[in-house]
Amino acid sequence: MPVPLLQVENVWKMYGETRALSGITFVVEASEVFGLLGPNGAGKTTLMSILAGLIGPDCGRLIVEGKELKPKDRSWRPYVGIGTQDLSIYPELTARENLEFFGKLYGLVGDRLTHRVNAVLKFVALSDRNNQRAGTFSGGMKRRLNLAAAIVHEPKLLLLDEPTTGVDPQSRNHIFEQVKELNRNGLTVIYTSHYMEEVQTLCNRIAVLDHGQMKACSTLPKLDATAKIGIDQPPPGFANRLSQLPGVSRVTQANNRFEVSANPLGPVVAEVAKLCVAMNLNLTDVTAAEPNLERVFLHLTGRGLRD
Ligand code: ATP
Repeated sequence: MPVPLLQVENVWKMYGETRALSGITFVVEASEVFGLLGPNGAGKTTLMSILAGLIGPDCGRLIVEGKELKPKDRSWRPYVGIGTQDLSIYPELTARENLEFFGKLYGLVGDRLTHRVNAVLKFVALSDRNNQRAGTFSGGMKRRLNLAAAIVHEPKLLLLDEPTTGVDPQSRNHIFEQVKELNRNGLTVIYTSHYMEEVQTLCNRIAVLDHGQMKACSTLPKLDATAKIGIDQPPPGFANRLSQLPGVSRVTQANNRFEVSANPLGPVVAEVAKLCVAMNLNLTDVTAAEPNLERVFLHLTGRGLRD
């Protein structure tokens, strides 16, 4: 078994009375795109900052390629790139000067620095704007430069905190495609976004955080294994009977159609069939529903508004 790139074990973080993270545990395998979702204030940025070594956890362990990081151990930092939610770039510097600054921070010098700066300028389609001050850039160009700054030193792990917020569809699509290309070339990515379709398309596994706690962590088909079931003339309270079957996490009903979510789904569908036989009901059809991240997200985190 290959060693995971990153293991996060029982990480806690308090800000005064606010519990930003409560016992977070998960694993990120090398070369995966791992999605981190959560409503506002769920703890995503706090977790990203801890993974990047920008702040320390109150307790818990980070294990990188099988080796535990000791508190204040900074040896991991050169291997991580972070595209922060609030842009890190300096508006008074040109695009090139920004990238030279971030490259030097990570120890790049001389020809290597020049080569990497040129390469990432090209990668984010800013070569022809390289001598323009970042402060004059559009929102999309700033986001692209922010991404370039995060990868100029060729990290092993890229942390992207809402990298497409506030940009037009063209820049958004460009960033999205560039992240896919980086991953195809072997870069491991942890990606947070409020855009469900981005996460659904990009990420092979997804963690859902809420109130600092991990609500679920799996592939989308496992997070949202749902069957659509048709029953002729279902008796009152039948949805409730279904929701009591072992393993069922969610049941919705529209007339004689039911959606039943469970993991694993197969045994539950078998139980539904048995129940129909026992209650002398006609089960008309069973089909697998297309997994839907928004459905599972709202189920796990509720519909209440957050501050
Ligand atoms: P968003 O989607 O809004 O960016 P988030 O999931 O990234 O939210 P965090 O920014 O990590 O959430 O915040 C988690 C909790 O910790 C929130 O209640 C927030 O108000 C609080 N918090 C975050 N940073 C600080 C800080 N520096 N001082 C005090 N409280 C903080």
